[in-house]
Amino acid sequence: MIAATSRKPLILRLLSEAINLANWAGDEIRHITRTCTKPSQLGVVDKGDKDFQTKADRLVQRLITVNLTKLFPECIIVGEEDLVEDKEEDLRLLNKFKDSLSNTDAAILKMTLPDDCGYENLTEKDITVWVDPLDGTAELVEGNIQRITVLIGISVKGSAIAGVIHQPFLKSTTDLDEKGRTMWGLVGLGCFGIAPKETPNPTLLGIITTKSHGNQNIEDTIEAIKPDRVLRIGGAGYKVLCVIEGEAHSYVFPSNGCKRWDTAAPEAILKASGGKLTDIFGNPYDYNYRTDNDYQNYLGVIASSKESMHSRIIKSIPNHVANGLLELQKQNLKPKC
Ligand code: AMP
Ligand code: MG
Ligand code: MG
Repeated sequence: MIAATSRKPLILRLLSEAINLANWAGDEIRHITRTCTKPSQLGVVDKGDKDFQTKADRLVQRLITVNLTKLFPECIIVGEEDLVEDKEEDLRLLNKFKDSLSNTDAAILKMTLPDDCGYENLTEKDITVWVDPLDGTAELVEGNIQRITVLIGISVKGSAIAGVIHQPFLKSTTDLDEKGRTMWGLVGLGCFGIAPKETPNPTLLGIITTKSHGNQNIEDTIEAIKPDRVLRIGGAGYKVLCVIEGEAHSYVFPSNGCKRWDTAAPEAILKASGGKLTDIFGNPYDYNYRTDNDYQNYLGVIASSKESMHSRIIKSIPNHVANGLLELQKQNLKPKC
């Protein structure tokens, strides 16, 4: 059984384990959300600028990273949260995962990889995994639980190629049958668990942007784009899901604030569905590991389901916004390290 599994391509084994872990993470988030009915019970740590961490973020990052490290020891794993060492808890989470039954493995491991992507020959050393254990924590704290997601992105040679997104709640916390949904994608193979949709009215331009990290640059850009509809909703993962499902043409965030773990999984799934996620100049982010741990997406985030809309948005970014972000990056980002 173990020998047969280990002969399967590494990328499929990694994806199937990431899906199992994301599903488990969803169970833990649902449990914590149902049992902690007051924000004071969530163990909130304020990291500044409406950037929160709760006990759900801490538990989920630990359960994902400790198990992926055990299973794929040579992959680099980068998680959003700084966790304190707790060997006993690590062991508990390793044993719990080992004992859990998986029902997703078989289908994914049987898939045929596309010929021309070089996935067959990948080794663990080629791979970096990006973990945002709970994206949209500000939304969780405010009770907008449909917008929270677990994000596990996979990059190879600096490019986001695969990702898993679990959305723990589609409805409310009180529905005990709620299982959420898990979506995943591999560039060249496609996306699964989510059906890409056209926006209902292609002539009306709808964009989606941040709810809690707004600023004047974002407002100036919206003014320049002149969209017919602006949705302001939290969560990088959720906004990209809205783009894939046709709720908006583009996610427009001409600001620093998002990090690589916010964009890796959404970018890969969007690309696998035919869309695009870049900085405000149309360039993809570099998902290589950095020794200084500076994973800020200084040059903002633009994500679109269609190339034509993507370039229209990029052409509309005002010069003062673009120059301001370039200057911020220049002042803060050290030469590649
Ligand atoms: P939002 O669209 O505001 O929900 O942000 C998407 C993701 O980017 C979340 O994980 C936020 O924590 C992060 N983010 C965006 N802007 C900022 C900021 N100014 N400070 C800290 N985190 C941010
Ligand atoms: Mg996040
Ligand atoms: Mg997070």
